[in-house]
Amino acid sequence: VTTTEELVVEGLTVNYGGVSAVRSVGLTVPAGSAVGIIGANGAGKTSTLRAIMGLVPRSATTMRWGDLDLTKVPARDMVRHGVGYVPEGRHVFPGLTVEKNLLLGAYSRPWKAETKQALGEVYELFPVLGEMKGRLAGALSGGQQQMLSIGRALMCRPRLLLLDEPSMGLSPKLVAEILAVLQRLSSEGLSLLLVEQNAKLTFEATSTCLVVENGEVAMVGTSEELRHDPNVRRIYLGL
Ligand code: ATP
Repeated sequence: VTTTEELVVEGLTVNYGGVSAVRSVGLTVPAGSAVGIIGANGAGKTSTLRAIMGLVPRSATTMRWGDLDLTKVPARDMVRHGVGYVPEGRHVFPGLTVEKNLLLGAYSRPWKAETKQALGEVYELFPVLGEMKGRLAGALSGGQQQMLSIGRALMCRPRLLLLDEPSMGLSPKLVAEILAVLQRLSSEGLSLLLVEQNAKLTFEATSTCLVVENGEVAMVGTSEELRHDPNVRRIYLGL
């Protein structure tokens, strides 16, 4: 992947009826970089990602992906513009095979050779998915389903990948596997925006990080700075 676009968000706001979930959030994902958002349950992380994807009503003073004004792009077109999304909770199709799940991720790109190549890349990244390609997705473990969910998003060859809590519910060993995959994707030039409650994972997977509290950006800094910050250590790393 060679990403040249930058994601720039300013003044992003999401309201659900009377509930203010995201309040004037700003963030930048420079081309090819990995940015994290950490925060407690309900802080507004999921809403931020869904707002960028156009999946919830939102307003923003600026929301740009390269030259593209994202406030005008409907959710269904995001994939075509190179933005992939791995939703919270995986959402694989349990009654379909692993391979069918992956092929569904490629729906917008019907050219066979390219789909085949993308499939090969996903199996290379996640050998276990190749081994289990004929199995029903519902029969996979939680960690394997998470890999499938990431693999499905990669089938469209995104240049920016938004991930919502990929570590949720996974054992430390599987969290380490997910971290290795994120680091590899990042080293290959894919831009990442990672939302997590697992601050430790996030600091290792990203170079810049935001802390959100009550729908607002409470802190921003390099992941290295934040992991040494006394408040972050106490509240988010439990140290
Ligand atoms: P989680 O870790 O649970 O995903 P989060 O940081 O991603 O939390 P959000 O899911 O974005 O937080 O939620 C932010 C706030 O918006 C919370 O107060 C939540 O209760 C509220 N909220 C989220 N979705 C809706 C909705 N569809 N309708 C009403 N309120 C909502």
